[in-house]
Amino acid sequence: MAYSVGEILLSREQIAQRVRELGDEVSAAYEGRNLVVVGILKGAVVFLSDLVRTLRPQVEASLDFMAVSSYGASTKTTGAVKILKDLDADIRGKHVLVVEDIVDTGLTLSYLLKILEEREPESLAACALLDKPERRQAPVAVRFCGFSIPDEFVVGYGLDCGGRWRHLPDIHKVEMTD
Ligand code: 5GP
Repeated sequence: MAYSVGEILLSREQIAQRVRELGDEVSAAYEGRNLVVVGILKGAVVFLSDLVRTLRPQVEASLDFMAVSSYGASTKTTGAVKILKDLDADIRGKHVLVVEDIVDTGLTLSYLLKILEEREPESLAACALLDKPERRQAPVAVRFCGFSIPDEFVVGYGLDCGGRWRHLPDIHKVEMTD
């Protein structure tokens, strides 16, 4: 099976406008507070770098990153993930915003939020650029959400297909060809 980049689902202009709106929402929620913005590598990097530059100066934001990988088929139903890179800093007593590229089944994000909650942050919330609500298996609260999209595999703006196409500025559907 071969894959190719298909039609644009969300253009760079649509994304830029929604990211600015999300930046306003996040700024209003955390104004006057210290906020640890946690990016989930690698998919969220492009979104996170645009989002943090829309935050108002009244939000004292610092950045940290985690890298996770799924344990594979045996843990598909629990969403248990392997932490490949943990946070550099302790989040106890901090306001924490986890930034994800996309929430699909919700298993990864709900597991991540569970392990971060155990570290006793002052507050913990999630921000995702994309959400596929039809695919949800684990209920997870996404406080800040960019776009709800249909059940389509998408690439670009940080999202990959086997490591490819993260660098595309728009978000595209993927086409399967023989
Ligand atoms: P979940 O645990 O919510 O099912 O999986 C979330 C992860 O699956 C995302 O962080 C992303 O890596 C991957 N994923 C889910 N849907 C898509 C998609 O449409 N495109 C890409 N590139 N990755 C996806």
